[in-house]
Amino acid sequence: MHKDNQALIFELTKEGRVGYSLPTLDVPEVDLSELLPTDLIRTEAAELPEVSELDIMRHYTALSNRNHGVDSGFYPLGSCTMKYNPKINESVARFPGFANIHPLQDEKTVQGALELMFDLQEHLKEITGMDEVTLQPAAGAHGEWTGLMMIRAYHESRGDFKRTKVIVPDSAHGTNPASATVAGFETVTVKSSDQGLVDLEDLKRVVGDDTAALMLTNPNTLGLFEEQILEMAAIIHEVGGKLYYDGANLNAVMSKARPGDMGFDVVHLNLHKTFTGPHGGGGPGSGPVGVKKDLMPYLPKPVLVKKDEAYTFDYDRPKSIGRVKPFYGNFGINVRAYTYIRSMGPDGLKAVTEYAVLNANYMMRRLQPHFDLPYDRHCKHEFVLSGRRQKKLGVRTLDMAKRLLDFGYHPPTIYFPLNVEEGMMIEPTETESKETLDAFIDAMIQIAKEVEENPEIVQNAPHTTVINRLDETKAARQPVLRYRKAE
Ligand SMILES: *Cc1c(COP(=O)(O)O)cnc(C)c1O
Repeated sequence: MHKDNQALIFELTKEGRVGYSLPTLDVPEVDLSELLPTDLIRTEAAELPEVSELDIMRHYTALSNRNHGVDSGFYPLGSCTMKYNPKINESVARFPGFANIHPLQDEKTVQGALELMFDLQEHLKEITGMDEVTLQPAAGAHGEWTGLMMIRAYHESRGDFKRTKVIVPDSAHGTNPASATVAGFETVTVKSSDQGLVDLEDLKRVVGDDTAALMLTNPNTLGLFEEQILEMAAIIHEVGGKLYYDGANLNAVMSKARPGDMGFDVVHLNLHKTFTGPHGGGGPGSGPVGVKKDLMPYLPKPVLVKKDEAYTFDYDRPKSIGRVKPFYGNFGINVRAYTYIRSMGPDGLKAVTEYAVLNANYMMRRLQPHFDLPYDRHCKHEFVLSGRRQKKLGVRTLDMAKRLLDFGYHPPTIYFPLNVEEGMMIEPTETESKETLDAFIDAMIQIAKEVEENPEIVQNAPHTTVINRLDETKAARQPVLRYRKAE
């Protein structure tokens, strides 16, 4: 039994109880041994719970109530953009003409779906300032890898094989160095200054004729706008390298500035962040990649094109890096992003950017007196606090994150970026009301007070959740693969 008196579904089981009814069989029964190798056929029934329909309904409803998602509460998970997923997106994605088509259908029969994808590509080109966009990649990291493979193909097609290094600032998202490694490059780290921005002197020191690309996240993972992008672009282009823009967090930039205008050659976006696709739990996501003209021949094929007023996939791309995703990306997420862009319109997207930045700055300034703020400057869509002051009193950032659960909040991202001691990375997003922001701020201030007056309550948190503090790694290291009935 757990704290909320909710028995496990296996504890509710009563032999013979069923939660479904099937019509009587009106076709001949099949002998499984004619279809499957006999050693793959069960000899005993699976140990499944036997419960009524009402029990199983209550079981899943109770589980869903224990979950924390954007629809159930504030979710300020920095760098993840956990913003509201408009319900109109869901209804459009369920239109039978979108939901019931098959990826192997003849192109002639799915022109509407192809038009939507083509139009989405056009909007993303406009938003990013790039010349062409592919919707194939299924996530941000997948987009990074796709972009780097194109950069690699570009250099190699010119007979330039010495460009083995990708430069990544120390404040980058962890996927950047990982993607560079998977794409076969060596990662070179460039330092941030004490202002939290890329250190230009250090950048000049590491560039050379072995530089394939610089990957820049902007705003960076401290939530700060990189102010010297044009200088960086000049330094990289000077030595023949390409500029990669990690645009996973376009919430703070969209409709205000465009990576294409800043000199970037490649950019990826996370439609499951900025463009309101639901995410978490492993996807599905969508990480489109935009490129400038000289990288267009290397785009993953097929490329969706418009020919004589019809949409078609062009496979005749001899320089393409090849297909990076079966069929053509995660269509359902692309429908949601398209619906969002069309329902917001250009003014709406601009307002999104302004509110995302306003909300983050409001929250940062109100929390500043109670925590340490290592980089005290205007932030973009997110900001990073440090729990060093609380650590001196014996309370860690992890403890405060757990205590937030008692107030009904999903904690922010913690201990990231790595260059901030006891970091808390908070992203309120533009979709939350001032009342919600204030309530979260009050909870944070209350916790800061508890640290001073009654630290045990924070150190032993959470107190109100279904189970107490979990071992952070046990589930990954010792997964329970099979339920065994208690003896
Ligand atoms: C989320 C994120 C990524 C990775 O995106 P996934 O879809 O999780 O692979 C990359 N860079 C930044 C800055 C991000 O915030």
